[in-house]
Amino acid sequence: MNYRVLGKTGLRVSEVGLGAEHLQGLPAEQVFAVVDRAVERGINIIDVFMSEPQVRTDIGRAIAGRRDKVILQGHIGAAWLDGQYRRTRDADQCRHFFEDFRERLGVETVDIGILHYIDDEADFDRVFHGDMLRYALSLREKGVIGALGMSSHNPVVARRAVETGLLDVLLFSINPAYDVMPGDAALDRLFDAESYRSPALGGIEPERARLYQTCAAQNVGITVMKSLAAGALLSDRTSPFGRALTPVQCIHYALTRPAVASVLVGCRTPEEVDAAAEYESSTAAQRDYSGVLGTAPLFSMEGRCMYCNHCLPCPAQIDVAAVGRLLDMALLHEGGVPETAAEHYRALSAHAGDCIECRSCERNCPFRVPVVERMRRARELFGE
Ligand code: SF4
Ligand code: SF4
Repeated sequence: MNYRVLGKTGLRVSEVGLGAEHLQGLPAEQVFAVVDRAVERGINIIDVFMSEPQVRTDIGRAIAGRRDKVILQGHIGAAWLDGQYRRTRDADQCRHFFEDFRERLGVETVDIGILHYIDDEADFDRVFHGDMLRYALSLREKGVIGALGMSSHNPVVARRAVETGLLDVLLFSINPAYDVMPGDAALDRLFDAESYRSPALGGIEPERARLYQTCAAQNVGITVMKSLAAGALLSDRTSPFGRALTPVQCIHYALTRPAVASVLVGCRTPEEVDAAAEYESSTAAQRDYSGVLGTAPLFSMEGRCMYCNHCLPCPAQIDVAAVGRLLDMALLHEGGVPETAAEHYRALSAHAGDCIECRSCERNCPFRVPVVERMRRARELFGE
């Protein structure tokens, strides 16, 4: 495994890191197996944005006794309320759930504290002129967090944040599809079909390039999320370039942006960890993504679910990301719903049939996913 310095933090992070979001809902043994394999493969950075208590506890048990081998990226502003993930800007809630994070993870200090998911200008202003930022800065002053970061999908907002000089780290969504998208508007532009027809396609959209260069200039290290666009780039059918990229090409693409130190790959099994870590032994030819990006796009990625659950809370207690993941699995599978998907679906505590079509998730979704329509489809396919 190669290691890179994460900007001004001085931390040496593995080029391939672990995004832990897909561990939520898995049996504890599987969580342990994934973390074990990651550590064995030299992965030393783990992002844990989830606020769900059990997965926090299980990850804490998985890293117990080897804290020195893991650089933890934890989020400030991810709450667990009424049995669901929720984004919060309330400083007391931030404090409560960040203390919960430390307690359940079994750690005194967190290497990187991330201001969670700031995508629009109004939210940026609220956080950066409010108690939430003051709380986060106090954590850094006291050494409870070693570095301060922020997560975002919006290059304009992210650059504003970096230019404050307050951040050490940026957690940003980077993949070749997003990078050709206009960066001068809210995230929904990311999925605008017209953007894919832009003559600028084939080069990085200037606002995004400017963000990466600003990070490099200010020595703000970038950790990367959504490098595979939730798998959409891995199939000819769903890739906006009309041709699939491999995980190695996607990881390499992100690692070749300025200031990027680590690409956090979401893994559910030890085998998926191995597949991500295989990047390290890949050849230059295997990493080369230019052939795919030189082709014209076929269609927009608008409306593709990233399984992030940023759309919660749901009044019907539906885990929208889990339903979406199982729905896509069923839709991609030829010959009907695979039994594993049906089994996982049955085990969910609330199903698509419970959806009351309030559309609150659609308003909260940064990716403009037609959730209600997908819930109807899931109900048809899974029967509840
Ligand atoms: S519907 Fe949107 S917010 Fe919800 S999980 Fe999918 S991409 Fe994320
Ligand atoms: S539309 Fe359905 S899935 Fe979305 S928040 Fe409302 S009840 Fe939940």
